[in-house]
Amino acid sequence: MKNDRRPNWLMGSYKIRHHGIDTDYGIIYKGNIENPQKPILLRINSACYTSDIFGCQRCDCNWQLLAAMDEIDKQGNGMIIYDFNHEGRGAGLTNKLKSYALMDKYNYTTFEAFLSLGIEPDSRNYNYAISILQDLKIKSVDLISNNLKKESILIEHGIQVNQRISVVANKKEWQNYLISKKQQFGHDIDEKYFIYSNLAELEQGE
Ligand SMILES: [Zn+2]
Repeated sequence: MKNDRRPNWLMGSYKIRHHGIDTDYGIIYKGNIENPQKPILLRINSACYTSDIFGCQRCDCNWQLLAAMDEIDKQGNGMIIYDFNHEGRGAGLTNKLKSYALMDKYNYTTFEAFLSLGIEPDSRNYNYAISILQDLKIKSVDLISNNLKKESILIEHGIQVNQRISVVANKKEWQNYLISKKQQFGHDIDEKYFIYSNLAELEQGE
């Protein structure tokens, strides 16, 4: 899935509900999300306060969120589970900001900066997202994600992934970040999106 424009939806066209587990989860949705009879468009979206709130352009998180909302708007049905506990891939905002400082100082990727801080590069878990899907009796999804881990976790919990829809922002300023996601986090990002094919080549090209 590719989206180079700002979405044309209004927030008012979506519904938001708070899921009453013991933590903060927002569900943004359109159409029918309870006990749907066919695969539902789904994005499990990790919070990124820096891009979602302050418009920071270091990462593509907000771009992906808006692209997913745009796709759901077009199809008129689907949901985004916005996980507030996933900031910094589960390590929290403070650790993420520490990692940014290291990335600026040593030209580290996110992955390398987290390792240097002694933090697991990706400590997110999806237990609550799974609980929400089970509560809503969602059995099959069209998953908007490049992250194979999200797909396999859904399948492990008996939720069929009818198809996975890739969402890639083809912007030069995010090349380093996207290559790191592919090579260090194992995301499925087609190389056609890259001007450079690996981190070493990117460093030489700069
Ligand atoms: Zn981000």
